[in-house]
Amino acid sequence: MMPIDLLQRLPRPRRRGAEWLVLAGVLLMSALMVGYFIWSERRLLIASDIERMRMQTLIIDENLQHQFEGVRNALDSARRAFHPGSGCTAECRRVLLQSLKRAMPGVRALVVVDRRGHIVLSDDDMRDARLDDRQYTRQVAGMRSPDTLYLSQPYENTPGVFNIKLSLARMDGDGKADGAASAILNPEYFDAVMRSALYAPDMNSAITEDGGRRILYVPADPAAMRARGAPDPLFLRHQQSGRMLTVLEGEAAGGEQRLVVQRTMRLHSLGLDKTLVISLSRSTARIEAGWHSLAWTSALAWLLTGVIGAVGLVLAQRRRLALEQLAQARNAERAAAAERVELALNGANLGLWEWDMPSDLRTFDARAAAMLGYAPDELALAHGEWRVLMHPDDLALLDEALALHLADRSRPYEAEYRMRHRSGHWVWLQSRGKVVDRAQDGTALRMVGTRMDISARKLAEAEIAHLAFYDGLTGLPNRRLLLDRLGHAIARCERGGCHGAVLFVDLDNFKLLNDTMGHDKGDRLLEMVAFRLQQVMRDSDTVARLGGDEFVILLDDLGGSAAQAAAHADIVVHKILQALGLPYPLDGQDLRSTPSIGIVLFGEGHHTINDLLRQADMAMYEAKAAGRNTYRFFDPRMQAALDASASLEADLRSALARRELLLYYQPVVDADGRMTGAEALLRWRHPRRGMVAPGDFIAQAEKAGLIGEIGDWVLETACQQLVAWAGAPDTRELTIAVNVSARQFRQGAFAERVLQIIARSGADPHLLKLELTESMLLADVEDVIAKMTLLKSRGVGFSLDDFGTGYSSLSYLKRLPIDQLKIDRSFVHDMLHTPHASTIVRSIVTLAHSMGLQVVAEGVENTQQWDSLRQIGCAGLQGFLFGRAVPVQELFKHPAPPIALPCIRPPEEVLP
Ligand code: C2E
Ligand code: CA
Ligand code: CA
Repeated sequence: MMPIDLLQRLPRPRRRGAEWLVLAGVLLMSALMVGYFIWSERRLLIASDIERMRMQTLIIDENLQHQFEGVRNALDSARRAFHPGSGCTAECRRVLLQSLKRAMPGVRALVVVDRRGHIVLSDDDMRDARLDDRQYTRQVAGMRSPDTLYLSQPYENTPGVFNIKLSLARMDGDGKADGAASAILNPEYFDAVMRSALYAPDMNSAITEDGGRRILYVPADPAAMRARGAPDPLFLRHQQSGRMLTVLEGEAAGGEQRLVVQRTMRLHSLGLDKTLVISLSRSTARIEAGWHSLAWTSALAWLLTGVIGAVGLVLAQRRRLALEQLAQARNAERAAAAERVELALNGANLGLWEWDMPSDLRTFDARAAAMLGYAPDELALAHGEWRVLMHPDDLALLDEALALHLADRSRPYEAEYRMRHRSGHWVWLQSRGKVVDRAQDGTALRMVGTRMDISARKLAEAEIAHLAFYDGLTGLPNRRLLLDRLGHAIARCERGGCHGAVLFVDLDNFKLLNDTMGHDKGDRLLEMVAFRLQQVMRDSDTVARLGGDEFVILLDDLGGSAAQAAAHADIVVHKILQALGLPYPLDGQDLRSTPSIGIVLFGEGHHTINDLLRQADMAMYEAKAAGRNTYRFFDPRMQAALDASASLEADLRSALARRELLLYYQPVVDADGRMTGAEALLRWRHPRRGMVAPGDFIAQAEKAGLIGEIGDWVLETACQQLVAWAGAPDTRELTIAVNVSARQFRQGAFAERVLQIIARSGADPHLLKLELTESMLLADVEDVIAKMTLLKSRGVGFSLDDFGTGYSSLSYLKRLPIDQLKIDRSFVHDMLHTPHASTIVRSIVTLAHSMGLQVVAEGVENTQQWDSLRQIGCAGLQGFLFGRAVPVQELFKHPAPPIALPCIRPPEEVLP
């Protein structure tokens, strides 16, 4: 039989054919086995019958021989008593005959007859003178041999009852035959003997003489006994075989199929004149009756097995077909899904990587490999080979990101790093991934993920950062970077007890020089000043240009005490005076320029950046007042002026209660100058100082812890204004942007307070925008995200104010739900004069669009700025060109000469 696995390897149609072939083979084999079993059953059955019948013929044979012997002896005794010389009287002879007959149950009568067949004497004194059996009398007349035992033909003396006679010839004194002594056999006795051999109702037995005539037949069948025609064909076959015992099967005289055992009797010692054959037969049909039912049952069982096998095979093949179709459908679906993923990855320009951790093998798909200039099979990195391609500065960061993810599966793996391109340059990649296979003990086994080439974005970020933090003319750090570094330095000294100094350097009479010699030369002079300052300073110091001819120098780490710091600063300042005092060669002329320098020291205790810069600035004016080309340390008396601000703070505490705060609104317009909303800007109508700008008191409010209260008032007023505007069709879509200060935003329940105010006023949160600055988003990122996400979920929008002046990376900002960037007005102011400012504006607009954010440019003051902003694609604008911050009553009345503000009817106004 074909092995099962061989079957499974065949192609499907051939496999089905082969399975049917196997089934047919199995059925054929089993049919042969069943057939053989049935056949051998029949053989056994017949063999056992034959054996039984053979035994029975032997028993009959012996029984008859025994009887015939007894009869011969009795006849011989009777014959001798009739012999003339015996001396036995008539009476003696009769008594002898009677006693002989009684001794033999198989004999019905004993008679002595003369040659003509007349009865001379019989045991029962038969009255008949002679027996009417002609054949018998002829036989007696013909008897010659004294030793032969003559057997007569059966004689039907009463219908259906046949008798036969055995006789011995009687001799006279001359030895001539003179009649016979005969025994008439009892047919019932022999019948019984023969019958005892029949063990089945369909059996018969017979004794046949060699002429074919039946001597005895059981069960009684007079017709068979009388038959004189052709002998039984089976008997003839026995005779022809010449064998003593034959077993034959064939058609018997009646036409029936029979099994016959025939035995030729050995009667020579008796001197019988005939040969006798005992036969026993059975109907073949009856022998096979039980066997037939067995054969039928077996054949049926076989057939049933075959049918079940065939049905089972059909079902199994159908099931397999269904499973195969299912698998095919699944494969097709999988292929389609893979194709969709491929399309998505292609669209997003993502490459795939896979890391098999036990073997430390990293493999990449075509896109991922192409990012580094390789074909996928060229870039299989085993055993840390990838580290060679990594930028050394990014390795630690990447390792940390991986370790974090491996330790805590809830933390996603994401990293940005540089790798070496095949052609040598660095490529910025952003990689994301996760562990997809773990061992039972939780050990990570396999990670897969995507990578994206973010070089272009990194370049834009770097460009913005550089342009935003360095001065375009001198390449020195600008005000923003200075403030940042100063903030850090103050914090460091506050904690560590070190001292530092801020030097404010202003060139004497620079304005005059600039005006008389031209801006070009002025710029060259500034470049030289910057260069000389850098030469004089240590690397750890910061030389910044604030704008114009103002430079600020931050001296870090000047020693542990104020005296030490002062001495150190004194040395530095002399060096500066000397370096800047040297002549400047400009176009063959030696130009002279001197600086005035103000110095302020900082160390332990609280300082703010603004305080320090203001103090340094004051000291610089002192130096100027002292005749220029010199320096002054900040004098505590200068502090007095600052103290004035403290009194401002005191006033501020009562400002709210006295209803001195006002909210002004400045229009925000779209690219075509149509008003889309307004920014709410705070004003303080001070009883003595007049209108105070927020720049002069917000910091104090924060310091004094008043910002929460003031902020709430601003928000509430703005929300009420939104509700008032909602009533009129012209104004109901206008948005209001509200500024939020860092302190205010950081307060614990900020988000909840905002939501409460919105709910209380009934304003539509979708029209409210909160303006945040970058710096306030840097601290406690998770808290910031949580607050923003909560507010965002209720519809409140977020705008990033003064964008470009902070130091946050754009990739980080992507995590925050921001809607809008506001380009700081310093960039807008500079964009027409300095190319780097216009580059920044363009980059910001492009980036905002790529991140799906709106942009508003602040501080638009003239139509040229408007034009170029419109060209760049900036869709939101704000500035004096479109309207200053005014009380709401004046917002729609404002005549805006260069633009066509939509004619909006002023709706109900909210007066603070
Ligand atoms: P900001 O958020 O950048 O607001 C814009 C400032 O630019 C306003 O000054 C506005 O009057 C001024 N401005 C608008 N257009 C032009 C222009 O074309 N040219 C020039 N040179 N300036 C323009 P303002 O009102 O003095 O506000 C100063 C800052 O005070 C604001 O800067 C904001 O940071 C803060 N501020 C104002 N109101 C609030 C407030 O209610 N809460 C808080 N926390 N801060 C406020
Ligand atoms: Ca603002
Ligand atoms: Ca702003």
